[in-house]
Amino acid sequence: MTKKTLSFQAEVAQLLHLVTHSLYSNKEIFLRELISNASDACDKLRYEAINDSGLYEDAPTLEVRVSFDPAAKTLTITDTGIGMSAQEAIDHLGTIAKSGTKDFVSKLSGDQKADSQLIGQFGVGFYSGFIVADKITVESRRAGMKASEGVRWISGGAGDFEVETIERAARGTSVTLHLRDDALDYASAWKLKSIIAKYSDHISLPILMEKEEWKDGELINPSDEKGGRQPGGMVKTGEWETVNKGNAIWARAKKDITSEQYTEFYKQISHDFEAPLAYTHNRVEGSTEYTQLLYLPSKAPMDLFNREKSAGVKLYVKRVFIMDDAEALLPTYLRFVKGVVDSADLPLNVSRELLQESRDVKAIREGCTKRVLGMLEDLAKNDKLPAAAADGASATVSDPSTVVTDVLSETDKAEALANVGKYSKFYAEFGAVLKEGLGEDYANKDRLAQLLRFASSSTDTVSVSFADYKARMKDGQEAIYYITADTPAAAKNSPQLEVFKKKGIEVLLMTDRVDEWALNYLQDFDGTPLQSVAKGAVDLGKLQDDAEKKAAEEAAETFKPLLAKLKEALKDKAEDVRVTTRLVDSPACLVVQDHGMSTQLARMLKQAGQAAPDVKPVLEVNAEHPLVKKLDGSVHFNDLAHILFDQALLAEGGLPADPAAYVKRVNALLV
Ligand code: ADP
Repeated sequence: MTKKTLSFQAEVAQLLHLVTHSLYSNKEIFLRELISNASDACDKLRYEAINDSGLYEDAPTLEVRVSFDPAAKTLTITDTGIGMSAQEAIDHLGTIAKSGTKDFVSKLSGDQKADSQLIGQFGVGFYSGFIVADKITVESRRAGMKASEGVRWISGGAGDFEVETIERAARGTSVTLHLRDDALDYASAWKLKSIIAKYSDHISLPILMEKEEWKDGELINPSDEKGGRQPGGMVKTGEWETVNKGNAIWARAKKDITSEQYTEFYKQISHDFEAPLAYTHNRVEGSTEYTQLLYLPSKAPMDLFNREKSAGVKLYVKRVFIMDDAEALLPTYLRFVKGVVDSADLPLNVSRELLQESRDVKAIREGCTKRVLGMLEDLAKNDKLPAAAADGASATVSDPSTVVTDVLSETDKAEALANVGKYSKFYAEFGAVLKEGLGEDYANKDRLAQLLRFASSSTDTVSVSFADYKARMKDGQEAIYYITADTPAAAKNSPQLEVFKKKGIEVLLMTDRVDEWALNYLQDFDGTPLQSVAKGAVDLGKLQDDAEKKAAEEAAETFKPLLAKLKEALKDKAEDVRVTTRLVDSPACLVVQDHGMSTQLARMLKQAGQAAPDVKPVLEVNAEHPLVKKLDGSVHFNDLAHILFDQALLAEGGLPADPAAYVKRVNALLV
């Protein structure tokens, strides 16, 4: 292939613009990204070579070399990994294949501050080189291809790049950054080593740099590493040394790892700029032995709700990287967890198919799930200050330090304070995904139910657990009441809630899309049934006094003829029409039969283009309401009946099947 110029895919161009304009506050991460790519490339070679040892050619060493040339203002990262063919260079460096990245780019607003926060949740990978370089040259040859099939890729990071075929004997890739004038300090061994130690120390592959020594330098001040010697400066010796420790952090003892190291490792594997919310690190012994180091991120990624999204746990076998996104290691509803599992019991050439069937993997999956749930339970327990330490019931997370008393020991106090508010933070980001577990993970259903939090008719914050709710239940209350709706406002103002409000009964408000589906799997909590206030007839049981019951029965009796007429008028729309005691201010509302699909879920499914049964709801009318009283004998009976029905639908966020007919009817009455 002779030299040709190609344009970047539009998204790449956008990303590049952002990288060069917004990421200058944390420039040095480019090195982590490029070393990580180099290391991935070596991992890929090792993996492919399990089935084709010829790929090693006659150079089995896998390593990364970092070199620089202050005179030429270049910095080069070279690996002996899998390399790229010319087509791969075009595809991988010129387009964004990953849907998550595309989504990300589509969310950019052009507002630099907001965008750079967004990018914090996101790795920019190769393109981060352009933070410090105004031109990048990549030379590569794919393992197993001929020396004449090398490729050179050059770009200034604007709209396009050049590619051409070159002769390249060495397998693998070298990425040369032509440093910007304000980034020349990266052409320094001292600087590079300190960045490598910070971000890439655990990389199990050796990272090499050429040794330097002082030339004609007088040692002026030995304690000053950088400026201690004078003229002549450092000169290269031609000898290369390993600059990373290379021992996988998870294989070390906990006591030897600082929390900064845990955090750095997390950032490295997750490409997240923010520190994790929590982590758990354990060596598990028994019939299956493995090490797990699992992290909870602080922020949800863009594509959290994509269940097809790759999992975040990397699998190693005896410290040899096997695969990314090993989804068999954790259930889908925990897909936000990042980390590493290293097992000595799996074969090195384990495939994804094999993973699905392995008994060891099943044991690891169960173990990891339990650990993550345990970690969440700990956070939940410490989310608010322990009652003993708090000033009565006013333990808020806003300023916890003001309510800590001497009840706790110093260490417990510190621990409690450090974790206050973390679970709320976690839940705001990932709660909706956790709920999927009710349907997915039968064995842990009860533990998961304990971890759920909701807003309720008495609290705006999403903070009420089923246990909290139970503790506040009224005497004689036999069910946990909830309502599902599209938005918190719709839930809170739903006519169905009226009688509950009047009687001071708390109702949980469920407004996540997944709620309705997830609750199908949870019939009760700790022996108390869950009851949707929009399903079936309300039976407040012991909460209703005798007078109310009697009035309701009488109303049902006197309304019989009217109900029959309404039923006839609405026979295409309503399954049934009955008198209810659940309404106070509204004339009517819609409910579905006890085990029917809610109208809200049916609507959501239809919006998503999925098959949904035609739910015919039951119309319930408030016998006390003037509008209902007026119906009998009205010359507009038919119009009023339809309006009553359509308004009930509107009140719960639905739309009349024939909106124009609705408007016509209302207008006719208005006139
Ligand atoms: P990511 O690494 O997250 O996939 P990057 O933008 O960093 O995204 O890299 C894009 C792709 O370019 C990689 O997936 C890989 O296929 C290829 N690539 C980057 N660096 C190298 C390298 N050193 N060796 C081989 N391939 C590479």
